[in-house]
Amino acid sequence: MMKHVDVVIVGAGISGLMAASTIMDNSNASVQIIDKGQSPGGRLATRRIAGGYFDHGAQFITANSGNFQAIIESWLIKGWITTWNSKDRPRYAAVGGMSQLAKRLAYRQPLDCSTVVERISLLDGDYIVQARNTSTNTSQQWTAKSVLLTCPIPQMFPILESGDISIASDINSLLHKVKYKPCLAVLVCMGETKGFPLVGNMREPFPGMISWIAENRSKGISEVPSWTIHLDSDWSESHFNDTDDDIWNYVLPYIKNIQGGTHTLEELEYQIKRWRFAKAHQLISEPYLDIGNGAPLLLSGDAFGLCYLSGNSGGKVENAALSGIAAGHYLAKIVE
Ligand SMILES: Cc1cc2nc3c(=O)[nH]c(=O)nc-3n(C[C@H](O)[C@H](O)[C@H](O)COP(=O)(O)OP(=O)(O)OC[C@H]3O[C@@H](n4cnc5c(N)ncnc54)[C@H](O)[C@@H]3O)c2cc1C
Repeated sequence: MMKHVDVVIVGAGISGLMAASTIMDNSNASVQIIDKGQSPGGRLATRRIAGGYFDHGAQFITANSGNFQAIIESWLIKGWITTWNSKDRPRYAAVGGMSQLAKRLAYRQPLDCSTVVERISLLDGDYIVQARNTSTNTSQQWTAKSVLLTCPIPQMFPILESGDISIASDINSLLHKVKYKPCLAVLVCMGETKGFPLVGNMREPFPGMISWIAENRSKGISEVPSWTIHLDSDWSESHFNDTDDDIWNYVLPYIKNIQGGTHTLEELEYQIKRWRFAKAHQLISEPYLDIGNGAPLLLSGDAFGLCYLSGNSGGKVENAALSGIAAGHYLAKIVE
């Protein structure tokens, strides 16, 4: 059965969730969010392994702009985030983990998960959004006056191409300038093993190999020692298709080095998470783009909104959120 809404939002990461709440707070437009994941959050992701809890995507949130600082303050007041290891500048962790923040933002939002959008086409001034529910393996369709795509740019192209949506050549080359780096995340539950330092976090402990280690206990989200280890982006690129066992065997000596080699670590429980599009680089300055020809078709997410960040840093929770809000305000004005 075909459903009708004013706006379809593809992606329930921070950008899509903030866009949806902005539209709903500022208009009477009907909204439908669709995400291929089993729950909202995208790269705001938390996983449980053997009693330990791990943030395995975004590790902390920072605010560069006044606009985002105001949002941070409101989340602090609600008790959704807390300060974490803020030595040089304030950093915030989500209470209960990053995916919990996404669930709080998604509360009462019209969201269909486990649903992958495969095709968007234009018919008589409306968009037809075709998707597949991966739990039931059934097709779903919406018609919408406008669409907002928030997934990483390389994941936008096939959706548009399969529906014959053309992109103007200047915009196409702008979109292709954005690059994404991968990240292999190793999640290790240390169980009750004694002798592990409460590292809090370590940045670049082994340059070229391990770019980041966080102890999730120090965030208050895990009761047992649980380390999130992010591998260097170039290393991740060249080992992306290695087996989990091979990646673990590369990482093990480094863990032993930190731990001091006094315990057997081979039996520890671990999982490998592969982020193909971990962080966007060479961002687009504008908060969003409308590439629609006749009906609004917006693109937002962490590849957009360089204007909100200082310097030429990679995509963050901050610009992804503000990008979604800006797209939401634009749609709230024109769609009703
Ligand atoms: C390992 C790692 C560490 C990071 N560390 C930090 C950090 O410490 N601080 C920080 O600020 N940022 C960090 N980031 C970056 C930050 O997580 C992202 O910039 C931000 O979360 C992106 O949000 P988004 O909404 O733009 O995209 P996403 O969170 O990727 O959301 C896009 C959503 O689209 C969905 N989707 C994709 N294709 C489809 C489809 N065809 N149909 C339906 N749904 C689809 C996906 O499932 C996803 O939920 C990190 C990222 C990673 C991966």
